[in-house]
Amino acid sequence: MYILLMGPPGAGKGTQAEKLVAEFQIPHISTGDMFRAAVKNGTELGKEAKKYMDAGGLVPDAVTIGIVRERLAQADCSKGFILDGFPRTEEQAVALDGILQDLDIKLTGVVNIGVPDSELVSRVTGRRICKVCGATYHIVYNPSKVEGICDKCGGVLYQRDDDKEETVKKRLEAYHDQTAPLIDYYKKQGVFIDIAGMQDINKVYSDLLAAIKK
Ligand code: ADP
Ligand code: AMP
Repeated sequence: MYILLMGPPGAGKGTQAEKLVAEFQIPHISTGDMFRAAVKNGTELGKEAKKYMDAGGLVPDAVTIGIVRERLAQADCSKGFILDGFPRTEEQAVALDGILQDLDIKLTGVVNIGVPDSELVSRVTGRRICKVCGATYHIVYNPSKVEGICDKCGGVLYQRDDDKEETVKKRLEAYHDQTAPLIDYYKKQGVFIDIAGMQDINKVYSDLLAAIKK
């Protein structure tokens, strides 16, 4: 199963990916997670990416396409994957078509989780992530049992640097300018699935599962 998860920042892509990983045991490939790991490890890639991430902009296409090409060619992706946060520009989408063709992979579905901007700021600013296992929580919509501590592994929860309100607004602009047009790109390919993201997490997941099983 080769799934591409699309939607604005805060739509619930990472949250739904966690559930898909648990159910189907296929890798979750999030370019945002890859960049955050590079920043944490202080690599050249991390130093380059951080400039754009802190400003709420997109990391240049050439860099982003390069890391995805390398990752998708790894053996664990051959039976399936959940790609989250890529592509975000038309150039990335065209490059992904080429990468998948080279790997002889056809996408099972491109799932767009739709959520209005008015909801996204509170979703993103309330997001908390486990430092150890990466599980995602929300201080109101999906709180951990003990404040600040991960239910799954006991790790400490933190707020991403780019989840502050000023940066979120810039990220939403980047989404509308550069990423939302990809909805039409994938509609034309006939693999597009629209899911209503303004429902509770489990209902979004059951709609998503029903749609990809069709
Ligand atoms: P994305 O990966 O698309 O940026 P996340 O999955 O990290 O989004 O979700 C953003 C925030 O919204 C998180 O704090 C998450 O717990 C919360 N969230 C995700 N899905 C829902 C939902 N259906 N209803 C309410 N809150 C949600
Ligand atoms: P995310 O975790 O998907 O919200 O991504 C966090 C940040 O990483 C984004 O705001 C961008 O700066 C950067 N990023 C993630 N994926 C991409 C991508 N496909 N293209 C460009 N930048 C990206």
